[in-house]
Amino acid sequence: MVVAKSCTECGNNEHFSKEVAPGELLPVGGLHGAKYRVVVCGACGFTRWFVAERFLALVKEKFEALQ
Ligand SMILES: [Zn+2]
Repeated sequence: MVVAKSCTECGNNEHFSKEVAPGELLPVGGLHGAKYRVVVCGACGFTRWFVAERFLALVKEKFEALQ
């Protein structure tokens, strides 16, 4: 998992992470049930969303690759 060590918004180094269900955000085919991992900056609240690593193979299979 590659996560920047400092917040891109405020430079803070303290982040909090949790894996969450995406609701209808990732409803496509075999991705149903996939989860996101959210990473939130502890200082400014800037939030980044990642597809949980174990679902990345499905993303590569189901999504179109950008050139
Ligand atoms: Zn921040």
